[in-house]
Amino acid sequence: MELKVGVIGTGSIGRDHIRRIARASSGARVAAVSDINLAAAREVAATSGAELFERGEDLIASRGVDAILVTSTDSTHERYVLAAIENGKHVFCEKPLAPGPDGARRIVNAETAAGRRLVQVGYMRRYDPGYVALREVISGRRLGAPLMVHCAHRNRSASDSYTTSMAIENSAVHEFDILRWLLDEDYVSARVILPRKTRHSHAQLHDPQLILLETRSGVAIDIEVFVNCRYGYDIKCEVCCEDGTISLPEPSHPVTRTNGARSVKIFADWIGRFEAAYDAEIRQWIDATAAGSAVGPSAWDGYVATFTAACCSKARDSGALVPVSIEERPALYRA
Ligand code: NAP
Repeated sequence: MELKVGVIGTGSIGRDHIRRIARASSGARVAAVSDINLAAAREVAATSGAELFERGEDLIASRGVDAILVTSTDSTHERYVLAAIENGKHVFCEKPLAPGPDGARRIVNAETAAGRRLVQVGYMRRYDPGYVALREVISGRRLGAPLMVHCAHRNRSASDSYTTSMAIENSAVHEFDILRWLLDEDYVSARVILPRKTRHSHAQLHDPQLILLETRSGVAIDIEVFVNCRYGYDIKCEVCCEDGTISLPEPSHPVTRTNGARSVKIFADWIGRFEAAYDAEIRQWIDATAAGSAVGPSAWDGYVATFTAACCSKARDSGALVPVSIEERPALYRA
């Protein structure tokens, strides 16, 4: 039976996921769409054959929709995810689960009260083959215990609406989720250093920022977030262990030699860099949902990433070392 998916948010990544579902011949189809920008939703409905809903809540409640994909603006995620839980429907929500930890915690509470996992959060790096390989080495302790992790999250340039807090709350949240997944442990403290600001930034954005985290077992992590690096989208991760180091592989591109120079393409943005990971996460969500189960990054993972971001923002604003005191994981998320 084909899974009927309703998509709320027909902007950039919403359209991308809609194309992904359409070409996956995956046992799913986009049956309904909604967006506050009705013209955008109408256009997508016309090209995809999906039913158009003016209100996301009506799409969620519709009998013609089995599962929900939330790809609207951050501040709207909570209300749609809560409505999906209330209707007993599986929901894939793009990151961040909510703009702050309180909203994410309300989602955890609602899902816990419902007594079953319905939510998957769009932390797609867990499906990237490079990160998967890193995790295998770390969890198998082939290089001994991990001691330090050095990361960089670089974008070619940031728009005028991208602010200092977004570097942590929208960009580094990917690192907060993937590093916790790689190391299989939570963070205990956070510090943020603001280095000299690049001349390519603007008044509302301090760029770059350097985040320092420590995990429960004492692994020291540094994350550089530099969103005006000028050359491309570049994600780096090196894990130093007792018996050696392991690094995230560079994306595979042909090497060109010409005019006395050797060069390799660098991706312009995350869509190209993580395309295979996006494909795999949506594929897995569809398969799990059709089977009545939920896998992948959970609402709890979404909450912890958002909570860590809030601690880092506090550390940046205060200049102090801030404890990251994460409560015990509820039983629903312990499996
Ligand atoms: P976008 O292009 O701005 O699309 C968001 C859409 O949501 C817009 O059409 C917006 O309409 C609409 N919207 C705003 N309020 C709404 C509401 N109350 N109900 C329904 N729709 C509403 O943004 P995007 O880049 O696609 O990002 C969407 C989400 O995906 C964000 O949460 C973002 O963080 C996440 N994302 C994740 C990744 C990843 O790597 N996993 C990558 C990119 C984006 P208006 O334009 O009229 O406001």
